[in-house]
Amino acid sequence: MTTIPIAKPIIGPEEKSAMLEVLDSGILAQGPRVKALEEAFAEYCGVEHAIAVSSGTTALHIALLVHGVAAGDEVITTPFSFIATANCILYVGAKPVFVDIDPLTYNIDPLQIEKAITSRTRAIIPVHLYGQCADMEAIMDIAEKHHLVVIEDACQSHGAQFAGRQAGSFGTGTFSFYPTKNMTCGEGGMITTANTDIAERCRVIRNHGMRRRYYHDELGFNFRMTDISAAIGLEQLHKLDTFNARRRENAAFYDGHLPQDICPQESRDCKHVYHQYTICVKDGQRDALREYLAFRGIGSEIYYPVPIHRQKFIHDKLGDLPHLPISELASQQVLSIPVHPSISIEDRQFIVDTINTFMERARD
Ligand SMILES: *Cc1c(COP(=O)(O)O)cnc(C)c1O
Repeated sequence: MTTIPIAKPIIGPEEKSAMLEVLDSGILAQGPRVKALEEAFAEYCGVEHAIAVSSGTTALHIALLVHGVAAGDEVITTPFSFIATANCILYVGAKPVFVDIDPLTYNIDPLQIEKAITSRTRAIIPVHLYGQCADMEAIMDIAEKHHLVVIEDACQSHGAQFAGRQAGSFGTGTFSFYPTKNMTCGEGGMITTANTDIAERCRVIRNHGMRRRYYHDELGFNFRMTDISAAIGLEQLHKLDTFNARRRENAAFYDGHLPQDICPQESRDCKHVYHQYTICVKDGQRDALREYLAFRGIGSEIYYPVPIHRQKFIHDKLGDLPHLPISELASQQVLSIPVHPSISIEDRQFIVDTINTFMERARD
């Protein structure tokens, strides 16, 4: 039985020959391809600067460092995300403050952000989950009113838009190029910003705090991207809009053929790029559906089975945290099904038929 995986990178002859060219060039670490990828990515996002780094996680870490977020500060974020969103706050010694999500989009709820602001709050990290932007109009308004930094975790939303503007162009943007993302370069990440000083400091921290060769002005890291990765990333960036169009087309097919009450919602103002197509399965049926799909060779995944405020080590560090009922319920009901560009027309028909059969049986 063929298996339809939940994610699959698409690497073509363009990526392969671009990579071989780098190997032949002798410049393997950060070099001209990294610079070219940065310029192309900044232009794609409609921002002044893009800084390539080693991962989405290091992009978030650097973003918090350059904005001066440190011990004693609080950062408001969503618990319904990949762990890296919260880990970067802990890396700089600050305290993550988790607030609940909107039940329709699974993104951070701006009303809850406002309630959680204290005199220690320094930053907000909204996540554009599953490929759909958080409510950036409301979030930027709150940030302006309270003088807070906004760091967008756009690791799942390359090419997504809010009110016609690209994800990562509102605050300081952070992206990941891990193989499951909408575009990849193996491991890699990117920071986007309109601010020249912020961009310059990101470049310094990425490279051991070094402005002048072997003169180190501050504590930095080796968070650089290689030219091998950047060469792959450049080819992927050229294909990103085509990839995203195919994701949207697959999503539209699911919207049209699955029961309305389990389908995800695309918000007004948003262009969703369906990093994941996530259905909501109620009445305790989610895990049974997942097994039913697996038995028929259809991959699926739960993003995320445990909200961050309920992770063991977070509890060990931060103690008892308040209930966040919408995130907790979502973690029991969400199921992502294959929506990536490599699934065929037959695959998606098979996926729809299989889910609908399960749902009919569950109703009987
Ligand atoms: C993938 C991801 C990250 C981390 O990216 P890496 O490149 O794997 O370090 C951070 N946040 C979210 C929401 C992600 O999906």
